[in-house]
Amino acid sequence: MKVIRRAEEMQQTAEALRLSGKVLAFVPTMGFFHEGHMELMRLARKHADIVMISIFVNPIQFGPKEDLDTYPRDLEGDLLKAEKAGVDLAFVPTASDMYPDNFQTRVSVEKVTKHLCGLSRPTHFDGVTTVVAMLFNITKPHIAVFGQKDFQQLTVVSRMVRDLNMDVRIVGVPTVREPDGLAMSSRNSFLNPEERKSALCLKKSLDLAGNLVSRGEHRAEALIQAARELIVAHPFTEIDYVNICDPVTMEDVATVEGEALLALAVMVGKTRLIDNCLLSRSREE
Ligand code: AMP
Repeated sequence: MKVIRRAEEMQQTAEALRLSGKVLAFVPTMGFFHEGHMELMRLARKHADIVMISIFVNPIQFGPKEDLDTYPRDLEGDLLKAEKAGVDLAFVPTASDMYPDNFQTRVSVEKVTKHLCGLSRPTHFDGVTTVVAMLFNITKPHIAVFGQKDFQQLTVVSRMVRDLNMDVRIVGVPTVREPDGLAMSSRNSFLNPEERKSALCLKKSLDLAGNLVSRGEHRAEALIQAARELIVAHPFTEIDYVNICDPVTMEDVATVEGEALLALAVMVGKTRLIDNCLLSRSREE
């Protein structure tokens, strides 16, 4: 596996590979790999001749009071894992290379960013789309792989790609979970043992809502209420949002018709966790 630190070298390498007829898949990450990341890399491997990853904790997608400085990092461990997973190229830029002094451009998706995480993290998605657009220009992939764990991010990136006619196919990967159901996340490493137990309330509340839907409860308000009650019954939790929305527009829905996205964000202690699932009415009818 080749590790590349400079954008220019990455661009030249990607261009040469494209010209030689190779299919390039790309997995952007912030590192501190877990099985969720590895699954994305495995899927990329299936779709392409060359698998590229990036490891970059992108400062502009963090708000001023968020965990940029404490975000977990393990570059050496990550590179070993990526190499084992058969990754060909790892792009590992520095923040000052990505954002030199006179940097002044933002890529902004208007509507789907205004819901869910966009409400409590108002600058977050502009940071994501800006860095993803840059990374696409640098790595020139045919295919880029994202996790459904960050469902809104996947929606926002897909919107950007369609709106700007970017020549890359976006592939989504289902959420990878711990054996007890907790969605894998680099931020899980912040949880102490008591908080780790409480964090299970995210998946439990998704399951509860899914069960209620299959028993005929389709009113979003009732489903949200049930999920909220389950979450607040767990210690150390504070709900940011529990929403049921259209999976394409991210706008709230009043009832579950066809497919709806149940998305939640919960502070567990000082750690903000997110999870989601698709609720499907047709499944049980
Ligand atoms: P991150 O390093 O947290 O920015 O995540 C990099 C990519 O991995 C994003 O596309 C995430 O959606 C994806 N990802 C993170 N956690 C999971 C998970 N548990 N299952 C599937 N994909 C994930």
